[in-house]
Amino acid sequence: MKLTTQELQALDSAHYIHPFTDTAALAKKGARIIVKGEGVYIWDSDGHKIFDAMSGLWCVNVGYGRKELADAAYAQMMQLPFYNSFFQTSTEPSIHLAKLLADVSPSQFNRVFFSGSGSEGNDTIVRLARHYWSCLGQPQKKTIIGRWNGYHGSTMAGASLGGMEGMHQQGGLPIPDIAHIQQPYWFEIGRTQFPELCKDEFGLKAASWLEEAILDIGADRVAAFIGEPVQGAGGVIIPPTTYWPEIQRICRKYDVLLVTDEVICGFGRTGHWWGCETFGIEPDLMTFAKGVSSGYVPLGGVMVSDRVADVVIAHGDFNHGYTYSGHPVAAAVAIANINILRDEKIVEQVAHVTGPYLKKKFEALIDHPLVGDAETCGLMAGLVLVKSKSPLTMFNAALGVGMVCRGHCFGNGLIMRAVGDRMIIAPPLVTTCAQIDEMMLLIIKCLDLTLTEVKSRGWVD
Ligand code: PMP
Repeated sequence: MKLTTQELQALDSAHYIHPFTDTAALAKKGARIIVKGEGVYIWDSDGHKIFDAMSGLWCVNVGYGRKELADAAYAQMMQLPFYNSFFQTSTEPSIHLAKLLADVSPSQFNRVFFSGSGSEGNDTIVRLARHYWSCLGQPQKKTIIGRWNGYHGSTMAGASLGGMEGMHQQGGLPIPDIAHIQQPYWFEIGRTQFPELCKDEFGLKAASWLEEAILDIGADRVAAFIGEPVQGAGGVIIPPTTYWPEIQRICRKYDVLLVTDEVICGFGRTGHWWGCETFGIEPDLMTFAKGVSSGYVPLGGVMVSDRVADVVIAHGDFNHGYTYSGHPVAAAVAIANINILRDEKIVEQVAHVTGPYLKKKFEALIDHPLVGDAETCGLMAGLVLVKSKSPLTMFNAALGVGMVCRGHCFGNGLIMRAVGDRMIIAPPLVTTCAQIDEMMLLIIKCLDLTLTEVKSRGWVD
């Protein structure tokens, strides 16, 4: 039975509570229903073709419509659709995937714990980091430090580690023994609050907030620090190059585990397999999800370094796991996905061809009258919409200029996301240079339409 868009929207608003959505407001206008995907494009139920410059939710890295992934899922479902790894059993795909992940990870990682999502992966991080210190006779070493405007998922632990205040306000978060430091956001914080510092100096300053927090809490009480190499949901915040090495130095000095949340950055997004490689650091734990299966099936997990694994494994049961930890179908799809990334040299392509090409094109947007800053890292990028460039003046946040821009994108065949007045993209890693050109034309068109609208509303002079 084929329903019309309106019929689907009516059912959607009657029965479906959407994540991170004002459901009542959505019901009034109706959800846009996406029905098909191919390569970097998606189509809605009214037949509009849209350039998906967000790869779904930062995940469809090999693009839509890859038959290899569908075939892998089909074959595994026919062979063995499910079996668990709980009771001294294992499955072929989950074993092969564990080995493959060890192969593509930095050398300290030889073991993996599987989850069904990034959020569950970060819950695992909390359990594992605290358990590790407990095994070493330091059960009080359990505080985990994250960052304001960081995003680590939406479960109780994930949302607590993250620094999204709107999330903390609902459901009694954060859970105990989680602390936050300020983010290394040069444009918003460095440039305005520390004008005497250059960007690299600000990177060191932002890292020093970790040292202050550790000293404040007591190093004997801090289990781990967690951060996204590049903050994704927070607005593609790319830290100064000085930041991560200094964070690592501080973690080592105070014997605090270093955790990178690679849910967005992993599997090539930044031009290396892992964001930690782009920023030159060696974490003790890494969370992954999204790009591991290019979003075709839910899968996540934690890469566990020898340092942590050796201790935890020596101490018997780890009382933690999910029904779908190591799901054989998800594992089979992930293997096919990683094989595509390897065989087609997609990560190398991002590092040497499409990443630099996007950088050149995207950073040139700084010449647009609305753009106050534009930066990229691999195939992720962010720009800031500003009221005036000299002197640099932001729009009143309440005007929602980012949402105005997003609306124009939505109406003109481009998915670009708004985080406040920061517009962000993370196109599929298979996006070609010609497709980057096509995307840039759409972005410029939508910036122009936004400029016309803000002028007509009298929001700029
Ligand atoms: N960590 C990061 C860095 C993320 O970007 C996300 C999702 N956007 C998550 C964790 C949570 O992953 P999931 O939605 O799969 O639970």
